[in-house]
Amino acid sequence: MDRITIIVPCYNEEESLDRFYPEVQRYVEKIPDCEFSYLFVNDGSHDRTLEKLRELAANHKDIFYLSLSRNFGKESAMMAGIDYADGDAVIIMDADLQHPAALIPEMVDFWRAGYDDICGKRINRAGETFFKRNMTNLFYAIMKKFSTSYEMQRDVGDFRLLDKRCIEALKLLRENQRFTKGLFTWIGYKKKEIPFEVQPRVAGKTSWNYLGLFNLAIKGMTSFTTAPLHLMTFIGLTVSLGAIIYMIFVLMGALIYGDPVAGYPTIMTVMLFLGGMQLLALGIIGEYLSQIFHETKRRPIYLVDEFNGERVIYNLTRERAIVK
Ligand code: UDP
Ligand code: MG
Repeated sequence: MDRITIIVPCYNEEESLDRFYPEVQRYVEKIPDCEFSYLFVNDGSHDRTLEKLRELAANHKDIFYLSLSRNFGKESAMMAGIDYADGDAVIIMDADLQHPAALIPEMVDFWRAGYDDICGKRINRAGETFFKRNMTNLFYAIMKKFSTSYEMQRDVGDFRLLDKRCIEALKLLRENQRFTKGLFTWIGYKKKEIPFEVQPRVAGKTSWNYLGLFNLAIKGMTSFTTAPLHLMTFIGLTVSLGAIIYMIFVLMGALIYGDPVAGYPTIMTVMLFLGGMQLLALGIIGEYLSQIFHETKRRPIYLVDEFNGERVIYNLTRERAIVK
């Protein structure tokens, strides 16, 4: 009998939760020799998500929930789920049913066939704006160009089945600034992508906006490649070289032909260009500095407020989870 835990990060999902369990059950019940349990992670919701989870857990013995002390973000909520999950494999799924449960039987089949990390690959980016689509493309292009050790999976999100081996590997990666998508790629193991169509949200609204996505992209880049730093060094060198050549040119002009001093426009252009480059370079260094700042504090990735499981679990902060 295989045991699989379905991890569901939830942030203000009171409306989706009623429909989530029956919908997923419809598909997983039919899978032979497999026992499923659910681990919902309440990520500091402001609505009645926690009450809903308590209710669900009281009515179904295969439902567990973990409630974090505040909103830590989806990445941290997933990590909490991974730490507390218990089983031969886990499946990570969104609460809003955008990830079709119909894919689960196929995922389990691939897992049993020997794959370790089976993920859904979205084939429709419909409904996304032209701008968002292009920014996404740009992000993947930069990551592909600059991360040498491995290639980031494209159009692949957090909907995936992970074998115990992957879970153990992810538990080792305790970084604070989590870019989980990159971490999944980093751990390696045998991967399989299954195409699926992202469904519209059943209820509630997305918690992402452009600024959030931009920050995530920066986090992704600064967590997985130092290429921007090298690029700035390269640009700095090139610009300096250009400046030296230009200086010789100006000096010669003044000495040999007696040209008057070059005018205001040239000086302004060069000054503004260099000023801009310097600010950009400082900004890039700043991004890495902020990563270091956050990592060196070694704060826990999340804090647990409530757990309805039975095991005594310690996370790496050695804080004992509240166990009933
Ligand atoms: N989520 C979370 N913490 C957050 C934001 C989101 O746990 O701070 C959960 C949310 O409840 C959902 C999943 O992460 O189950 C995906 O979030 P959302 O649907 O807002 O993102 P999208 O599907 O638009 O990418
Ligand atoms: Mg969603």
